[in-house]
Amino acid sequence: MTTRRSDRPREACGVFGIHSRTHDVARIAFFGLYALQHRGQESAGIATADGERIQVHARMGLVAQVFTEEDLRDLEGGHIAIGHTRYSTTGSSRVCNAQPILVDGPAGQIALAHNGNLVNADQLREELEQRGVEFETTTDSEVIGALIVNEPGETWRERIARVMPRLNGAYCLTIATRDELLAVRDPLGFRPLCLGRLGDGWVVASESCALGPLGAQFIRQIEPGEIFSVGRGGVTTAIGQPSTKRAGCAFEFVYVARPDSVIDGRLVYQARQAMGRALAREQPAEADMVIGVPDSAIPAAMGYAEESGIPFREGLIKSRYIHRTFIQPEQNMRQQGVELKLNPLPEILAGQRVVVVDDSIVRGTTQVHLVRLLRRAGAREVHVRIHCPPWLHPCYFGIDVGNRDQLIAAKMTETEMAAHMGADSLGYLSVEGMMGALGLPEGDYCKACFTGRYPVSVQLQMDKLALET
Ligand code: SF4
Repeated sequence: MTTRRSDRPREACGVFGIHSRTHDVARIAFFGLYALQHRGQESAGIATADGERIQVHARMGLVAQVFTEEDLRDLEGGHIAIGHTRYSTTGSSRVCNAQPILVDGPAGQIALAHNGNLVNADQLREELEQRGVEFETTTDSEVIGALIVNEPGETWRERIARVMPRLNGAYCLTIATRDELLAVRDPLGFRPLCLGRLGDGWVVASESCALGPLGAQFIRQIEPGEIFSVGRGGVTTAIGQPSTKRAGCAFEFVYVARPDSVIDGRLVYQARQAMGRALAREQPAEADMVIGVPDSAIPAAMGYAEESGIPFREGLIKSRYIHRTFIQPEQNMRQQGVELKLNPLPEILAGQRVVVVDDSIVRGTTQVHLVRLLRRAGAREVHVRIHCPPWLHPCYFGIDVGNRDQLIAAKMTETEMAAHMGADSLGYLSVEGMMGALGLPEGDYCKACFTGRYPVSVQLQMDKLALET
């Protein structure tokens, strides 16, 4: 099965976990995943454990499509649940790759949910296959699971700590054993993972936006290199692999995370507003109004408007009820692309010089449609402003934008790109501007897709389907 690539950076995945003896953990996991839906819309799943056995329900589709009331009732009765929403960054999009996955081995059985991407999964898989381990999926997540269940050790924490130094790349894991919930974050801390308290129980989630709606209280983030566990012996935390440097994903702040999440103490909404303000200083434009591409670029557009003194308007309305569907629009409709989701307001735009703020450009086809839409609605001038630096290099740590030869900024100058998309001008935020707006220590963040300086060495031709070939 081939995988469709859109013109947007594809979100990584969302992971969730809960340990509670007083809540319906499957139902809590369902609503936790609901809040993490933006991180992956291809498949969803929940695994529960009741001290004796682990059950999994995982399917293709959105969270609300994957679970019926009956499915949740079937998962009832446990005190541990983990969940996953997936966009495939390794392995194609098909049901056998939906997570959580169940993995069996000499150490026992675990269910595992993974956010991130390993850069050495194919070597690790080869080594395991030589030892006679068989695989059911094509994901790097199963490789992690297989390593853990085949590792000697007294406890799950010990096995995981022995496996961690062999894993290169990005991983946030939630793991359910029969009677323990574990949460693990790679020592570079690429992807976020946070810890919350829900009554007598513990919750872990990719983003803090998943905690509030459940009534859970944010406690802290799971630290890079940490193994957090809740089981019969209570709560334990250990350093599985010491973190000698950090590489949190800067692009989480730009696009991936929800604006109401807090990462490293910074509210994503405020970070985006600050990026918009920095963008206005670096890339000014003579215009009558600033609009943002909903939803991710709205806070940055507001920041741009504040800083520039140009009024902010809503010139594009997004249909909130168009979700990812497996039913493809017919060819003509597909050519219209974004028009299914975005509707311009000619009454607001006609005759105006418009600054349109967007979060990023991958192949540029979205912006070609966007500029055409705005012109058709009567905009007199269209100035495209992007609140992150140009995407010049692929990401190997869980955000899929395709290969370097698919990235328009790697092939054209900004002037050529503006002409290609039919815009009057195009301007990006610089790396320095983006990091200044984040206000966090620059050395602690990965910016490799903009700079080409990867925090771990990567094989430059890595493909997300490598494990299938
Ligand atoms: S390469 Fe870019 S998208 Fe990937 S982890 Fe680094 S900053 Fe994030």
